[in-house]
Amino acid sequence: MTTFDHGGGVRSVQVPIPDNPLGHTLVYAVDTDRGPVLVDTGWDDPASWDALVAGLVALGTSVREVYGVVVTHYHPDHHGLSGRVREASGSWIALHAADAAIVRRARETRPERWFSYMAARLTAAGAPEEHVAPLRSARGRGAPGLSPALPDREIDPGELLDLPGRRLRAVWTPGHTPGHVCLHLEEEHPARLPGGGRLFSGDHLLPGISPHIGLYGDPDGTTATDPLGDYLDSLDRVGRLAPAEVLPAHQNTFTDAPSRVRQLLAHHEERLTGLLALLSRPLTPWQLAERMTWNRPWADIPHGSRNIAVSEAEAHLRRLVKLGRAEPVAGSEPVAYIAT
Ligand SMILES: [Zn+2]
Ligand SMILES: [Zn+2]
Repeated sequence: MTTFDHGGGVRSVQVPIPDNPLGHTLVYAVDTDRGPVLVDTGWDDPASWDALVAGLVALGTSVREVYGVVVTHYHPDHHGLSGRVREASGSWIALHAADAAIVRRARETRPERWFSYMAARLTAAGAPEEHVAPLRSARGRGAPGLSPALPDREIDPGELLDLPGRRLRAVWTPGHTPGHVCLHLEEEHPARLPGGGRLFSGDHLLPGISPHIGLYGDPDGTTATDPLGDYLDSLDRVGRLAPAEVLPAHQNTFTDAPSRVRQLLAHHEERLTGLLALLSRPLTPWQLAERMTWNRPWADIPHGSRNIAVSEAEAHLRRLVKLGRAEPVAGSEPVAYIAT
């Protein structure tokens, strides 16, 4: 178990994520007049829980002392242990309304409904039958996200959160999830680094990874959202805050947020341009995903990761259509897209 002191009453614990190349979640503990408030909690696994508990002790406090939990987004490596922390401490849990809705849905949706929704969506995206068939027979397996904890409070973007003696303001940064928030600690940087305070960036802004941007999964959703457009807008918003230091949920802290934002904007612009070249002939989202550049050849990408890749291809197509740079081919079934 590893802990860090970031100065100015902010410390962190590395909470391991089992069997995941990311390795760990950085759980931040912000001291307040009423006890520490955690930013994220980590994956719900016995070893992760032990690391969090031991880490808080090493920081001179304990899980029982926790006053509140602010969750950047609903993903299980961030929100997984929130319920256990609340049980041990009586703390509140705060999450943005859009992610709270996903949590509620995950708790209410039967696994069969989830898998049939996934199967229908993949078929509509042009996935071949041999890819979709296993989802139809996946009944009984737990739905993704299992049973995440319901929050007690909704995070209102722009408002100061309930951290007595501190100034922590939520900045809504949809894209990676619809309710992702970054948390801006507005106090001066403890080492007086130039810039506006410190930013807990969750998965929105990471030093060495471009976060996954896919369609927002919603079995009941009917509106055509544009997660990549949301993400690019959110990047812009965070770049303009120009925090002195960024404290992300994975990897390591870093400075010069605006240049990281520029890198990510350029990366996405390049990727969209590359996709337009592929779309010189009609492609379904599945066919586009097969031709996109991933961290390994398509043939080596396992089933679950292919679903994520297709969702990412769909998010990019959604953006290109919104920009008027691509359009669906009339009468195609499943729908194919072509550059305009
Ligand atoms: Zn995430
Ligand atoms: Zn994460």
